[in-house]
Amino acid sequence: MSDAIVLCYHAISERWPAALATTPRQLRQQVWHLLRANYRGATFSDIAFGAPAARAVAITFDDAYRSVIDLALPILAEAGFPATVFAPSAFIGRTEPVAWPGIDQWRETEYADELTPMSWDDLAALTRVGWEIGSHTRSHRNLTELNAQQLDEELSGSRADIEERLARPCTSLAYPYGYRDTRVIQAARRAGYTAAARTTRGRILPPSSALDWPRIMITRRDDKRRFHIKTSPAFRRVRASAAWAVIDRRRRRRRAAHPTVES
Ligand SMILES: [Zn+2]
Repeated sequence: MSDAIVLCYHAISERWPAALATTPRQLRQQVWHLLRANYRGATFSDIAFGAPAARAVAITFDDAYRSVIDLALPILAEAGFPATVFAPSAFIGRTEPVAWPGIDQWRETEYADELTPMSWDDLAALTRVGWEIGSHTRSHRNLTELNAQQLDEELSGSRADIEERLARPCTSLAYPYGYRDTRVIQAARRAGYTAAARTTRGRILPPSSALDWPRIMITRRDDKRRFHIKTSPAFRRVRASAAWAVIDRRRRRRRAAHPTVES
């Protein structure tokens, strides 16, 4: 098993209690833990296409929240890590909060400004410091529910938007919500993507193709202990094994029976 890992983050915030918002302190601890464990930073495409000799980690951010350039960039720059942002191109540069099922419940709250997306200038600035900007489609819809024409608009359209605005190739993609099936993967290939990331809950199998790359999801719930376990080679080995299905089923059952016990 290759010792390259791809982590999936979303927003960075001190105050926003959403699971998808990691605090700056958590991110700093996590990055420095990886540095001490001899990981070097890479972009998502570096890992999807390279055969990293050493331990490599790609930190990826979905949704292009403004907090990423404000709060994550300084922390990653200290560590000398680049990162990858997957941007929903129709929302970039808007002043109002992004909107789709799953985050809409925050729009009428005091945390609405946490949903502000980055501008095209922000994304261009990130490319100048070695970050990769990939696509997160145009409008963050569940791709498995779209017809062929809508799929093409979301996939080719977003790639064209990003290439035009940033004047550089955009060949990587993250599937919104991680949802993809064979048809979606084929459409992504036809649209010109060469690497695409999903998220994973269950067994972490080695990628079946560069267009179906698993990522480890990191949330606000990941304290030091959980992060160390999630990223440890031993735990990743277990999650890649056939035994994981049995272990995970029993954990879930135990957690349902004793909801106060930490997983
Ligand atoms: Zn997303």
